[in-house]
Amino acid sequence: MRKLGCYVWEQLGNSLTENMREIKKAGFDSTFFSWRKDTDVESYMRTADEIGLCVETLHAPFDKINTLWEEGEDGDIYTEELRKCIKLAGVYGVPYVIMHTTAGRIVPKTSHIGLLRYGKLVNQAEKSGVKLAFENLEYARHLGLILETFKSDTVGFCYDVGHEHCYTPGIKYMPLFGERLYCTHIHDNLGLAPTKDVDYRDDLHKIPFDGNIDYKEVCTSIKKSGFEGTLMLEVCNCKRYSFYGELSPEEFYAKAYDAAVKLRALTDGE
Ligand SMILES: [Zn+2]
Repeated sequence: MRKLGCYVWEQLGNSLTENMREIKKAGFDSTFFSWRKDTDVESYMRTADEIGLCVETLHAPFDKINTLWEEGEDGDIYTEELRKCIKLAGVYGVPYVIMHTTAGRIVPKTSHIGLLRYGKLVNQAEKSGVKLAFENLEYARHLGLILETFKSDTVGFCYDVGHEHCYTPGIKYMPLFGERLYCTHIHDNLGLAPTKDVDYRDDLHKIPFDGNIDYKEVCTSIKKSGFEGTLMLEVCNCKRYSFYGELSPEEFYAKAYDAAVKLRALTDGE
C-alpha cells in the first residue's frame, strides 16, 4: 500500500521529537523536517530510527534563495549553505532534499549565474547520492527553467498542492511536470484572496478537506502520472492563524492521518 507521511516541527506545545512520536502513533509511515544551520539532525534521525519512522526528505532553507539568481557574494554564501544541507542528507541517508527556486512575490529574473549555482547544487547531489525535488511556489518560470536545464535523474519536481491553489490559480502543475514527480506536499487553503494579490497570507497549510481544494482532481492527477511514492502532508497549526489551537498534538495528527487515508483512497481506490 502507498505510504503516508506528515511534516514534523515543534507545535501545539510539543517539541519536534515529541511530535515525531505522535506522527508515528497516528499511523504515518514517513516524515520530513526543515533544515537550518543549527538543526540537530543527528538527534532527529536517531529518534526517527528508534520509533521506525522514515525521514524521506530534508527541507532546505529558502529565506535567501533569491540571492542565487543575483550577482554578488550573498548568492555564493547561500549556495554553500544549501550544499551543506545536501551533503548532510547524503550522510544520513535521506533520499531527497526539497528546494525552492524563489521566495516571495518580488523575485529576481532568471539568470546565468543562478543556473551556475543551481548546477553546483546538482553536482553535490550527484556526489552525495541525493535527489533534489524542486517545489512550485509563486512563479512557474524559475521552476520550469531549472527542470528544463537539469534533465538528470537527480533533479525532479515536488508537487505542492496548497501552493498551486493559492499562488497560481489557473496553472495545473501535474500535466506540466508530473513525469518528473519525486515528492508531494499536500495541504489545504481557501485559494487566492479576493484582492488577487498573491501573498503568503493565503498559504494556510491546513489539513486536507479543511479548505476548498478539489482533492478528487488532485489525487487523479497524481495517480495518472504513475507516481507510486508517499502522499506527504505538509500541514501545521500555522502560527498566525492557529486554526487547530484547541486540539492536542494527538488529536491534530489523528485528524491529519484520517485525511491522509481518505486521500489514499481517492488516489488508489479503497
Ligand atoms: Zn511545500
